[in-house]
Amino acid sequence: MRKIDKYEKMYVNFTWIFIIIALLRMVIIKYGFQCENVLETSNLVAIIFLSIASITNICKICFIKKNIFQGKHTYYVVRLLEIMFVLFAVIVIGFEKWAYILLVFSILITTLEKGKRKAQFFLICSLAFAGVFQGVKVYSEYELLNINIFCCFSTIIFLHIVLLMFSELCGKIYEDNYESEQQNKRLFAELASRYEQLEEAQKEIQNQNDKLKDTNYKVEDTNKKLMESLAELYTVQQIAQAISSIFDIKELLQHVNDIIIGVMGVNNSTILIYDENKKKLKVHTTNIRNKQELITINDNVNCNILMETLGNGDSIIENFVDSKEFPFIENRDINSLICIPLLTKTKKFGLVLIEHKLANAFDDNNLRLMNIIGRQVGIAMENAELYQKMHELATIDNLTKVYNRLSFQEKLKDEFEIAKKNNYPLSLAIFDIDHFKKFNDTYGHLFGDKVLKHIASLIKNSLRSGDLIARYGGEEFVIVLPKTDISRAVEKVENLRKKLEQTTIKDELVSASVTVSFGVSCYPEFAQTESDLLKTADNALYDAKESGRNCVKVASLEE
Ligand code: GH3
Ligand code: MG
Ligand code: MG
Repeated sequence: MRKIDKYEKMYVNFTWIFIIIALLRMVIIKYGFQCENVLETSNLVAIIFLSIASITNICKICFIKKNIFQGKHTYYVVRLLEIMFVLFAVIVIGFEKWAYILLVFSILITTLEKGKRKAQFFLICSLAFAGVFQGVKVYSEYELLNINIFCCFSTIIFLHIVLLMFSELCGKIYEDNYESEQQNKRLFAELASRYEQLEEAQKEIQNQNDKLKDTNYKVEDTNKKLMESLAELYTVQQIAQAISSIFDIKELLQHVNDIIIGVMGVNNSTILIYDENKKKLKVHTTNIRNKQELITINDNVNCNILMETLGNGDSIIENFVDSKEFPFIENRDINSLICIPLLTKTKKFGLVLIEHKLANAFDDNNLRLMNIIGRQVGIAMENAELYQKMHELATIDNLTKVYNRLSFQEKLKDEFEIAKKNNYPLSLAIFDIDHFKKFNDTYGHLFGDKVLKHIASLIKNSLRSGDLIARYGGEEFVIVLPKTDISRAVEKVENLRKKLEQTTIKDELVSASVTVSFGVSCYPEFAQTESDLLKTADNALYDAKESGRNCVKVASLEE
């Protein structure tokens, strides 16, 4: 409730008290003291006056409740009507003079509510009303009562002078009150503005905080991605290093498998190699040691889904694996897997199978990294195959598929050093097909080629794993027999000669056989260097040819 409304309510309460006291007074005087003459007005007039005062009070309470009492004009109209009513009641109707107390209340309240100036305005209005009412009354009753005009007006003037003094006094209170109220308002406004500023600053801080949090999340996210990229980079770099430093494909795949297990923290990693002849996948490298598990995998890796992956090159990521679809996980407690193909544009090498016991263990990042690894390993395997082919071309004779003269010389050097170092005997035999020129002339060069191939393969298959055979010249071959002394070498070579002698080589049209002559030498018995070994064996071959061919001759000591 506003301050003015509070004052006004107080005024209403005073008025109620006044009305009650007036009524009590009337009753006491009339019925208590039985002195009817004391009353200046009739009871009826008093009751009307008090009733109007009560109605005014009730109206004011309604106005206050509905918040319209402080309306711009309502206040003035109500106040002027009140003043007029009191003056009219006392001066014109003749109500007792102590009813002026209501006028006093009115002016005092106005001063407290609106200040000294407004109160003085009402005082002037009141004086004017009083003057008019008293003037009318004097005029109408002058001849009748012969009253003193000065006496009539003096009360009114005296009353208004008193009211003026009161309004001065209350005006001072109002001004102090008003000033402190204004100061309070100013302080409050300042406080409110400070509060607003504070709120704004708080909002700004909150805003900045949110932005900071947002940036922090982004930084954390970027950091995570960076760490992942770093781990990926490290893995890829390790694999690249392995590819560039390990030429043996078996060793390389073993290394790659170990890196995958180490980096991805998976339970199993298996590399399956595709055999193009059998059209089947086979376990090549794996960390699985359990025999039963290995059997399950080997028996089931040629399932549809893996064959499709190999065929179309699309990787598989499955975080809730079903053994119906992936039969190789049957009874193996595997719940997540990634399968990536090892292939290049031209060739399918196989698959890498990564397995985890936990469900939902893999995400797209794992798949992406594995695909990078898969591509790299595919290229490495292609390179290894190419290298293998190049190596073969450089070291193996194209027609007979035994070592050529160049690689033979290297190998002989190695074997000679080993023999020398370990004090082993090392035998060497050179053989040459007898009358091969004539043979070619008779059966044709193509059949001659077939004979060369056949002889080379027959002897290769008759040798021990440490022995070696090479094509030394056109129809001339050389055999190296480590850890073999001359007598055993002669025995072996003699067997070979006999075997060849008894062999018939056929094709669709021709069927023929050839004989060969052997020259055998041995370190350290007949030679101290590898060139001497070759030379003494060659001389022995010459001897064999001289002696009628199809025989074995041993190097002689004199040379
Ligand atoms: P000899 O018993 O004295 O060794 O008589 P030969 O005819 O075998 O000896 P010669 O050195 O005169 O002839 C070697 C022949 O080997 C000549 C050549 O036609 C044949 N020859 C060499 N290389 C090949 C080859 O790659 N394929 C075929 N079909 N024949 C070859
Ligand atoms: Mg010959
Ligand atoms: Mg020859």
